[in-house]
Amino acid sequence: MASASSVLQSLLSQLSPKDAEAKIVGSKEAMELVAKMYSDSKNKDDFLAQQYQNIINIAHRRPEEVSIQSAPGLSDVYEAAGEFDPQQDRILYDSNLSQENTYNSIAHELLHFLSKVNKTEMSPQQEHDIIKHILGTSTYKTAHELDGYAPPIPTLEQDSIIKSLLKEK
Ligand SMILES: [Zn+2]
Repeated sequence: MASASSVLQSLLSQLSPKDAEAKIVGSKEAMELVAKMYSDSKNKDDFLAQQYQNIINIAHRRPEEVSIQSAPGLSDVYEAAGEFDPQQDRILYDSNLSQENTYNSIAHELLHFLSKVNKTEMSPQQEHDIIKHILGTSTYKTAHELDGYAPPIPTLEQDSIIKSLLKEK
């Protein structure tokens, strides 16, 4: 899958030249989307853009691999714009949505992945409470609805969970 992830890999290698092997892998379409999400986020300085950038960076540097694949129409049948399968470490996203509207879903699913590999042992509900804090929503909302999100001050417990999810390994 080296060529499929080369776009993202070359983007991130500017930051971490030693990191030879991409840990976020997937279809060419998915990798181009994540690369675009990363570069769009670098060009913005709002809170959510910084979070998207952080989450991609941290997930990419994990020793565990996560794959991302498109699933056009996922939100029509599933009432979710994304899904993380912890058995296969695979993320699906609804590629029928506009690119910008998939960013939060992809960040959301990457946080489920980071929770799993960090062995937080949070329940899905606890994960969603934290995800809502980090990303402004734990469900699907358009980029427009989320524009300008600033998080409330976290409790000490939330703060330590967030730090453990987003620490480098
Ligand atoms: Zn979720």
